Amino acid sequence: MPGPCPGCGAPGMGAPFFAVDRVPTNSVRLHADPAQALAVPRGDIRLAQCPACGLVVNAAFDPARVDYSPGYESTQSHSPTFDAFHRALAKELAGRIPLAGRRVLEIGCGQGEFLSLLCGEAGCEGIGCDPAWAATGAAAGPTRIVPMLYEDMPRAPADLVVCKMTLEHVARPGALLALVAARQGPGTRLFLQVPDARPILDRAGFWDVYYEHCNYFDAGALAGIAAAAGFRVEAVREAYGGQYLTLEAVAEGRPLRSAPPRHSRPADGFAERAAAAIDAWRRRLAGAGRVALWGGGSKAVAFLTAVAPVPGVVAVVDINPRKDGTFLAGTAHPVILPERLPALRPDLVVAMNPIYAGEIRDRLAALGLAVPIRTVAAEPGPSAGLSAGAVSRAPPGSPGCSRQRRQPGPPDGPRPP
Ligand SMILES: [Zn+2]
Repeated sequence: MPGPCPGCGAPGMGAPFFAVDRVPTNSVRLHADPAQALAVPRGDIRLAQCPACGLVVNAAFDPARVDYSPGYESTQSHSPTFDAFHRALAKELAGRIPLAGRRVLEIGCGQGEFLSLLCGEAGCEGIGCDPAWAATGAAAGPTRIVPMLYEDMPRAPADLVVCKMTLEHVARPGALLALVAARQGPGTRLFLQVPDARPILDRAGFWDVYYEHCNYFDAGALAGIAAAAGFRVEAVREAYGGQYLTLEAVAEGRPLRSAPPRHSRPADGFAERAAAAIDAWRRRLAGAGRVALWGGGSKAVAFLTAVAPVPGVVAVVDINPRKDGTFLAGTAHPVILPERLPALRPDLVVAMNPIYAGEIRDRLAALGLAVPIRTVAAEPGPSAGLSAGAVSRAPPGSPGCSRQRRQPGPPDGPRPP
């Protein structure tokens, strides 16, 4: 990949190690008819790793192909498991960081659900920015949302800057963090949350590699990039059953002049593991009868795009009522509410996120459906399925922030060319 690393700024990325052609570039937008769902814009994925900081990026990413205007339907707040996580995280941050009477700024705040929760818990003022804000969102009380990118909004001093599940969508995450450090000023506290790349890369999580996510951070890369941008990193932690990383830091206003030492591991072998996992899922689904996926978001789009064609998949279930009756981007599978599932007489339900397996099991039981559940992920190697019982290491609903990552060890050796 030509050009410097978009995270740490080091010159030269490694050669692409994983490629997928023509994936939908807007996997969570809703489509009213199958033809529209099949005709979506597409782009390529070429994963490459920075030899300096370890960040994995899609070297073929074009930000102009992703549309974050209203209609970008990414909320997970319909899930009780996710809602409990959000509430516990807001409570935990409010209990630990003195915010009463102060101001929180959230970059990429979506519809403002978390910002409102945090401000309610902490008794502080909130300002959020997100181009996908639809003006009908949850923001209320002392929170205000501007429908624009952080780069474009007027400067808003804040004591805490929150940026959750956003940095993985940003073409130049290092530049965004450096801008935050410079604009907000020394002493400003930063809370980041991103998907953890390590389980994706180690366990062949091909369903977690999709166009909107142009960056894949592990703990070492995330800490290195924040430090390079001018933050003193205080903690990097696992959250949400090991699926997310959180980082807390304080702006120092002195960006590193050179790339940070690398503390993350190479992504070697991912392409082979992913190919084997895709093959295994094709065989598994071919013999499974009528299959319903559970979770109609980006993971389902990436999963079905990779394993297609899959004639046995009859529907994708999603608990978000706004998605009912729509069709999945790329493959045009019908998206339905759980209530409509019994009529389809499924033989197997595949949960797209293991952390929701308990919630799904309860819902199926309430619907009178005795159907086996498999979940993607969670085990090393290509045999990715596991029973619904063996999920989430952190209790659902807990912010999962108590388990602190070890401090990054010595850097890995140089990566072979
Ligand atoms: Zn880098």
